[in-house]
Order: sequence, then structure tokens, then C-alpha cells
Amino acid sequence: MGSSANEIKKQIVYYAKLMDEKGLVNTLEGNLSILDRETEELYITPSGIRKRQLNEDMIAVLRDGEQIGGSAKRSSEYLLHEAALKARPDCCAAAHIHAPYMTAYAYCGKDIKLKCSTTFALKMGEIPCLPYGEPGTSSIAHGIEEVIKDHDLILLGNHGCIAVGNTLEDAVKIVEAAEEVLKIYHLTESIGKVKDIPECQLKKLMERRSKIQMIGKETNDRKGGM
Ligand SMILES: [Zn+2]
Repeated sequence: MGSSANEIKKQIVYYAKLMDEKGLVNTLEGNLSILDRETEELYITPSGIRKRQLNEDMIAVLRDGEQIGGSAKRSSEYLLHEAALKARPDCCAAAHIHAPYMTAYAYCGKDIKLKCSTTFALKMGEIPCLPYGEPGTSSIAHGIEEVIKDHDLILLGNHGCIAVGNTLEDAVKIVEAAEEVLKIYHLTESIGKVKDIPECQLKKLMERRSKIQMIGKETNDRKGGM
């Protein structure tokens, strides 16, 4: 993996503050993690601390579910992060966010299927929604293996979303993009009838997405994750 413990902590602090600035996380909601696949140690944001007040020393370090480092208590959603990253050996980072537009779909228990956005077709395809599971327990991640293997971003019923990526930048950028697309989609609905991309063109974009995804997974598997 090549990143030192300090470098990992710095990245988590950087993206946690960025998500806070964008209003996508708050003191009680949202957490970010990076798994060092060499040491099997999971670095995760702590619980109950405003993300803009975080520093590197506060980032919790876990091995086999036990906290072995960090001055603040690990996020209660570490089980969700562990499950997501276990299901995606090609990824080393996870972002669990309660982004408003996506979370609204999660409250409806609705998969997100849009046919009007090229970003969506190329990067997300669709965003499936897992059934409700109790937060802070392993049941929040129930069924995640099946769904996350083909999707970097998924919804958690009545809760929020989780994204995985080779790096934290990869995980965070799809959350930001999906949220932006949904914002525009709902703005569009207030202006007029949303026009879908023609079916044959959409298929082409989806095929491009599958190819990019396959190459990405193969490359990351070869590198052993990040
Ligand atoms: Zn949450």
C-alpha cells in the first residue's frame, strides 16, 4: 500500500473537513475510513466530534475490531466500513455519508435509476438500496456483499449511503457527483419534463462503464488495493 500511518490519518482529516465544509457530514452523521491492507488496520473517524475539529491524533486505528490507536473513540459504524471493504478487496477506502438527496431516496427505500445524466450512466449505472438495518450493529451491512460488488456507491435503507474506492478521493468523488446529479435532477423536474438519454446511447454509456470498472478492478487487484 505504501502510505504511512500518518499519511493515512492526514487524508482522513482532509476529506472529513472537506465533507464538513460541503455540509455532507456533521458531528453525529458520516464517517470515513482507510484500510491498510498490509497491516489489516482500519483507520476511521471518531464518533461525536465535529469533523472540522479533527486532527490526526484523534483518528481511531482498529485491528480485528479492537481499537489500538487514536485519542478519540472510533465511529460506531466501523462494522459497516469493515463489511464494505471486505466485500471489495480492490478498494481501500470507504465514505459513509448522509448526503441529503441520496438519503431522501434511502428514506423511501428506493433504488436510484436515472436515465437523463451522462455522469450517472458512466459512473454509477444505478444506486441500489439495501433494506433497513440497525445502525451501529452488523445488521446495517446485511446483504452488502451481494450489492456492493457491482456498485461503488449504495444506499442504506432509512439511513444514508456508503461509497468505496481505491482511495478516499475515489470514494468521496462519487458521493459528491451523485449528490450533484440528484440536485440537478430535482431542479430539472421543477422546470419541465426530464428528457432521458436515447436508449441506444444510454446502453453505449453503460457498456463503457462496465469496461472501465473491469479494468479498474483488475489494476487494483494486481496492486493489492491502494
Ligand atoms: Zn450513518
